[in-house]
Amino acid sequence: MSGTVRPTALWPPASLGVIGGGQLGRMFVQAAQRLGYRAGVLGAIEESPAVQVAHWSILAPPDSLPALRAFAERAEAVTVEFENVSAPALRWLARRRPVRPGWRTVWVSQNRLREKSFLARHDIPHAPWRPVRSPEELTAAVDALGLPLILKTAASGYDGKGQVRVERAEEAPRAWSSLRRVPCVAEGWVEFAAEVSVVVARDIDGGAVVYPVGMNRHERHILDSTMMPAPIGPIVTQEAHRLALAVAQALGTIGVLTVEFFLTAEGNLMVNELAPRPHNSGHLTIEAAVSSQFEQQVRALCGLPLGDTHLNLPAAMVNLLGDLWSDGPPDWDAALRADPGIKLHLYGKRTAAPGRKMGHMTVLDPDPAIALTRALAARRALLGRRTLGREVE
Ligand code: AMP
Repeated sequence: MSGTVRPTALWPPASLGVIGGGQLGRMFVQAAQRLGYRAGVLGAIEESPAVQVAHWSILAPPDSLPALRAFAERAEAVTVEFENVSAPALRWLARRRPVRPGWRTVWVSQNRLREKSFLARHDIPHAPWRPVRSPEELTAAVDALGLPLILKTAASGYDGKGQVRVERAEEAPRAWSSLRRVPCVAEGWVEFAAEVSVVVARDIDGGAVVYPVGMNRHERHILDSTMMPAPIGPIVTQEAHRLALAVAQALGTIGVLTVEFFLTAEGNLMVNELAPRPHNSGHLTIEAAVSSQFEQQVRALCGLPLGDTHLNLPAAMVNLLGDLWSDGPPDWDAALRADPGIKLHLYGKRTAAPGRKMGHMTVLDPDPAIALTRALAARRALLGRRTLGREVE
């Protein structure tokens, strides 16, 4: 009977729109297309990863009114692939089309001061912090948090950009100046044992599903690898899931939301960051899970039932940064020949720069630690003969 069909569900071949042209937008478009939707991009750059694969695109800054108007005309529902989308633009769109996640989730997660206040208000454990908007607040933060601490710009930080570690009190003013004295949060340094993350998908009825916890390793503040499931035992796993679901519920998120945590040696979890979208640590769900994080983004956006988040096999993912191109193109042949189980993803970016995410590789293996070892070995093989001179191990 029709009682089970939601009136708001949007079925293929409806046309969906994503704001942002990066790799997350590209993988959203690909997931939408696989389900039979048409998918378009509102982004500023012609050759960007998502624009390359979309059915249609509007090349303009995502907060220009003519661009939004044209976008709302073509996209029957709208999602985002990055958090720095203006909240007024999202509200304008939301009066015309379903926008998921909604502006509030994006607005909270695009600013660390709002994010921390939100976590505090909802009793979600997080690293100790203080706002820094004046020299007096900076001094108060150093006194309250102790040293070392880390100063992070409240807005527009990603992949470690807009962050400075402060070791000594007298360095604090200079550190803040190096961030142009914009509003910041000061965070107490966390001696974490591991970093983990949970991707949640939540539907229009408030039903939510979680993926297994991912264990993440960062290099220079940029995600380097993820292994899923994280070898952290059932109690910490359950707690990570409980907290991630509580965050999604408190935000009222419809769509995909990622919660990153620090895990201390004592087994305590602290939320580090929220992302109102699929996450780099969830890329391995494309091959490993019954439904990928991008498929869930499409399903939640369109009001479809959410998919199964179970892994068919444990998996690991390693990022491919532009640094791998520094002495010429990577040796793809060596990596793929060495391990036929490697799944290679490249985002179609024309120029490689140090720290720029160019692609990733995923490996499935019954043992997640072996999956990670294999993925790392394949990445080393990309350096081909250059590896010989460099490896010390
Ligand atoms: P974020 O952009 O806040 O996710 O920070 C990027 C990375 O920097 C994190 O994943 C950690 O590896 C490191 N980091 C950030 N904040 C802290 C902190 N308070 N204590 C220790 N390490 C941190």
